Amino acid sequence: MKTQIIVIGAGFAGLTTAALLAKEGYQVTILEKCDSPGGRARLWEKDGFAFDMGPSWYLMPEVFDAYFSLFGKKREQYYGLEKLKTHYTVYFERHDPVRITSDFEQTKALFETFESGGSQRLDSYIQNAKYKYDTAMRDFLYREYRHVFQFLNKRLMTEGLRLNIFQALDPYVGRYFSDVRARQILEYAMVFLGASPTNAPALYSLISYLDIADGVYFPVGGMYTIVEGLVKLCGELGVSIEYGEDVRHIDERPGPAVAVRSVKDGRKREYAADAVVMCGDYAHADRELVDPSKANYSSSYWDKAVLAPSMFIAYMGLNKEIPELTHHNLYFSHDWTGHFDTIFKKPSWPENPCFYLSAASKTDRRAAPAGKENLFLLVPTAPGLSDTDEVREAYYEKVLRHVERRLGISIRPFIEVKRLFSQRDFTESYHAFKGTALGMAHTLRQTAVFRPAMRSKKINGLFYAGQYTHPGVGVPMTFIASQVVAPIVREYLKG
Ligand SMILES: Cc1cc2nc3c(=O)[nH]c(=O)nc-3n(C[C@H](O)[C@H](O)[C@H](O)COP(=O)(O)OP(=O)(O)OC[C@H]3O[C@@H](n4cnc5c(N)ncnc54)[C@H](O)[C@@H]3O)c2cc1C
Repeated sequence: MKTQIIVIGAGFAGLTTAALLAKEGYQVTILEKCDSPGGRARLWEKDGFAFDMGPSWYLMPEVFDAYFSLFGKKREQYYGLEKLKTHYTVYFERHDPVRITSDFEQTKALFETFESGGSQRLDSYIQNAKYKYDTAMRDFLYREYRHVFQFLNKRLMTEGLRLNIFQALDPYVGRYFSDVRARQILEYAMVFLGASPTNAPALYSLISYLDIADGVYFPVGGMYTIVEGLVKLCGELGVSIEYGEDVRHIDERPGPAVAVRSVKDGRKREYAADAVVMCGDYAHADRELVDPSKANYSSSYWDKAVLAPSMFIAYMGLNKEIPELTHHNLYFSHDWTGHFDTIFKKPSWPENPCFYLSAASKTDRRAAPAGKENLFLLVPTAPGLSDTDEVREAYYEKVLRHVERRLGISIRPFIEVKRLFSQRDFTESYHAFKGTALGMAHTLRQTAVFRPAMRSKKINGLFYAGQYTHPGVGVPMTFIASQVVAPIVREYLKG
């Protein structure tokens, strides 16, 4: 009989890990709580609109291409890509909106209008960011960290200064720019990492290389086509996927093997596998699926962990197009530390929130029927807020007025499809700890060796991957995590 592996979760981490392990010749079964694949990147369809429920920015295309090449395939065999001409539009509270385009010379000229010397400083900032990105890709991302000395070694101590690992992003950006617009454009992406510019290492300025210079892409047919591509790949490799299967308990059993208990359609099920890879929320597994004596981390560890924000999301189908919008639109309030404080310091629903408004139908006409618009509104919020029907409806009304006022557009009269998704949905759908959308924030103390370990310390044969583990949050990162965990599982099984 073939070696059996169970992967928990059919998000990006679960699907990419399952395919890699199946390629090794193992029999892989994915157990997924939801009734469709994708995890946070599921699809919601209604009345001709197709909403990507989670990620909408496709960055680091080389990571995806490299993943498919591991199978002797080309990414194009699974889904196509389009490069956006306008990367995004930024709306400011006290200044005119600006567009970041695929023409870097144009962006440099824009930064020159922000402040004298801005063009040349942006050039040098992005060159530095590219250096960080290339170094991280080559030396730091595709590897496991088991001991602190593997991270804090001589090379990192010398290289670390150049990579600005030990400095926060906000003062680092301040060395280059004083104009608030320049600073906000170079710092906003920390929300992608679940952190704030004051607590994220300046290493992450590498993201600006991606969203300003390298390029912003979009899969033809939407982000969900990546999920469909991975499901197809898994199918070709013989992976089976059980949907609606909620794992309730993981433990060691004689064999050596790992026992998994789950519930599907109200019926209890039990599996024995040679290895299990947990690719759902780590905090949920460590706190609820294993016996407390077998957890990797104490309850105080989880209480003290800096969680990434939750999100207040409105999916809206409009009965007309909004010509003023581009695919990605961002609004930054002038005093945005106020918003960050409501996430990280004084948890509350933000009053003058920064927000992200995506109109995927601008690029992908399949996202909405002809002549209509597909909008995705996102406000980052603190994890753990009260999220009753009344609270979220009231907040929705408030935020929508705010969006209309700040962008100078009208939305409310044209909404024909609407769904809200917030804290409690993250918990109910994915077992998210305190409703966090992204797991753990990328602070220095939660980077690389300081992220939760990929190996269980107490249960032989249990491993972890996904946005909680190294390298962390974001779709490309989960593709990389699976390439780190798969060889670890293989080595374990070889004995
Ligand atoms: C709204 C939003 C926008 C984002 N935008 C971007 C973006 O633009 N670009 C980008 O790169 N990243 C973005 N991200 C981050 C990115 O989507 C995530 O980092 C990534 O999708 C996480 O994948 P994962 O496989 O680790 O976890 P998940 O997608 O959460 O998958 C885990 C799966 O495990 C299942 N599961 C959990 N517990 C159990 C259990 N007990 N039994 C069975 N199944 C279980 C869950 O149901 C889920 O399907 C965004 C995230 C969100 C939420």
